[in-house]
Amino acid sequence: MDFGIAGKNALVCGASKGLGRGCADALAAEGVNVTLVARGAEALETAAEEIRQKTGVKVTAVACDITTADGRAQALAACPQPDILINNAGGPPPGDFRNWNRDDWIAAIDANMLTPIELIKATVDGMMARRFGRIVNITSSAVKAPIDALGLSNGARAGLTGFVAGVARKTVASNVTINNLLPGAFETDRLMKNIANTAASAGKRPEEAADARRRGIPAQRFGNAAEFGAVCAFLCSVHAGYMTGQNVLLDGGNYPGTF
Ligand code: NAD
Repeated sequence: MDFGIAGKNALVCGASKGLGRGCADALAAEGVNVTLVARGAEALETAAEEIRQKTGVKVTAVACDITTADGRAQALAACPQPDILINNAGGPPPGDFRNWNRDDWIAAIDANMLTPIELIKATVDGMMARRFGRIVNITSSAVKAPIDALGLSNGARAGLTGFVAGVARKTVASNVTINNLLPGAFETDRLMKNIANTAASAGKRPEEAADARRRGIPAQRFGNAAEFGAVCAFLCSVHAGYMTGQNVLLDGGNYPGTF
């Protein structure tokens, strides 16, 4: 299937590694020029060069913290009129809500709710005027089924989800869709670090803990960034113009409900 987006421009946040990288790879494979944003310049330059070599699309790398106003200004200066926006940043740390103060909550809300909202605000009117736009927010399965230790994530991402549910209905008539992708367990640096930390506090080996986690998922495995990116690229395709305001769960069957 031709996704019909070759030559479009995408701003992909959190793109040097993991799920954001998977999205950047899949979009570039469809011929989309990508502006990659991540904090660490080294991993970012490596990712940019790999994508250039493999696909031949125009790749721009912007090393900045997308959760700051300055970082967002740098990203938007490099890609002022994106046709596609992938919102993504690191998730908040786990913990017990009794230990979180106002600053912890503000940091989580800044990163996982207000940053995507600011980027939507900065780009959506241009997309609507040009009559094409695709916005995908990488959120979490925790939006649908809260994870006990991830209260900061459950809360901040639910706020974004509520906002998107409203605005996505206002943009679709202009062929601008806004959807959320909800990852379950994907084999990325972040997941493996989280598993290693939990294993260490339980006195287990990381591989033992990872295997137990895999066995608990109906698919019996973790997802990979390429399959995440493929779904993202489809949501960004010309074929997905009738789909907006949706929360698409990618979790190997882990959520047990009928809907
Ligand atoms: P990862 O750590 O493997 O990669 C994160 C990428 O984002 C890196 O490129 C990093 O440089 C970049 N990044 C992080 N914070 C940034 C910032 N402030 N500004 C710019 N770039 C930034 O993480 P991942 O596993 O790909 O996770 C991506 C998102 O998905 C996170 O919010 C995470 O909480 C969420 N998530 C992941 C999983 C999973 O299983 N991997 C599950 C649920 C939710």
